[in-house]
Amino acid sequence: MKITHLGAKECVTGSCHLVQTRPGSKEGVNILVDCGMAQGHDPKIPFDQFPVQPQDVDYLFLTHAHIDHIGRVPDLIDAGFKGEIICTHATKALLIPMLHDGMSFSNRSHKEIRRMERAIDDLSWGFELHETFSLKKGITFKLGNAGHILGSCFIRFCFPRLPHTLPPNNSNKRSLTPTYSVIFSGDLGCCDTPILPDPDPPESCDLLILESTYGDRNHTNRKQRIETLKTLLDKALADNGIVYIPAFSLGRTQELIYELDRIKTKVPVFIDSPLGLKITKIYADLESFWDQEAKALKADGDHPLDFKNLYSVEKYRDHKQLMDIKGPAVIIAGSGMCTGGRIVDHLEQGLNDSKNDLFFVGYQAKGTPGRRMMEKKIPVKAAIHTLSGYSAHADQNTLVNWVKSMPKPPGKIILVHGEPHAQKALAQRLGLK
Ligand SMILES: [Zn+2]
Repeated sequence: MKITHLGAKECVTGSCHLVQTRPGSKEGVNILVDCGMAQGHDPKIPFDQFPVQPQDVDYLFLTHAHIDHIGRVPDLIDAGFKGEIICTHATKALLIPMLHDGMSFSNRSHKEIRRMERAIDDLSWGFELHETFSLKKGITFKLGNAGHILGSCFIRFCFPRLPHTLPPNNSNKRSLTPTYSVIFSGDLGCCDTPILPDPDPPESCDLLILESTYGDRNHTNRKQRIETLKTLLDKALADNGIVYIPAFSLGRTQELIYELDRIKTKVPVFIDSPLGLKITKIYADLESFWDQEAKALKADGDHPLDFKNLYSVEKYRDHKQLMDIKGPAVIIAGSGMCTGGRIVDHLEQGLNDSKNDLFFVGYQAKGTPGRRMMEKKIPVKAAIHTLSGYSAHADQNTLVNWVKSMPKPPGKIILVHGEPHAQKALAQRLGLK
């Protein structure tokens, strides 16, 4: 068996891993885990340089619906992939809205986008968590909740060992199980994330492919971050200004709605993001994926993703009207790093007013307008605040504890999805060579 990391090996975007059960043999099974878009300078390997051509990939597993894990799926299908796409039910629900948004920024016509959406829908299947399912050639898989965004999962595969690799019955060599198990962590979430249950503890495995985005640091806890959000908002809105919060449509927007509801925000909150609203509706519809806290709130009559002064701004003309609004108000809009989208219009207009404030609640990549504003390289009159603790990724302690929660330590660990310095720090904590 051979595993090749075709993306996000030593960086955090463009996730793509290939498992070949018998490389070079027609008898083998080829499995891709994720097929994500690389961002910035992260490497993007053309499909014709993959060890296996798209038409020879049997299965594509998607750990979750972030674009850096699914963004190249349309291109993979265009390049000849016709296997099965396997994910959780919630990821299946998020897949087409997320890819529709991604494709609308490409050269594809409306007709081509619709055709591709039908193709993705035909090839993709939602599966239950915690159940074992069979693939061809005796391979099985089981999905566990990763707690990163709605529907995110880690995958445990069991590959039958070839008979000649097993020791004879009376051999006193180390006993080998008849299967070789591999876990792909995908992106692991934090504990106490709003709406989502904590990541499931993993079963043991022979090989663990582990993400390491925050392998070198620990986050502030959720209680602290809600308190900071409340204190900063109260201060920022005291002069009747507007607070702008750039946020990713999938995950962060829903967390903010949830937390603004918990702190009983009195001012109007506008979600000025058609994709963010579509995703929020999917989150609201998939209650079975919520954690106990969110379910209990709903049972008590307090919907965790809705509150009295929360307003949806869907149409472009309503967005234009919102530009004339007077504070106090909170406006949440995409894109999360201010590289485009409706937040740009708001910031162009609002950042020259000292009454207004800009809150960063997410990672701002190098070179993005968000990062330049965060580093005060773009002069503005509004106050800029960076709230820490908003991360959809497990920190170092959570990653280490997750690995330790395995009944037996993994035979081998390979770190992926992290910058080299984060991987080095995590490798040290895990005692890897
Ligand atoms: Zn992710």
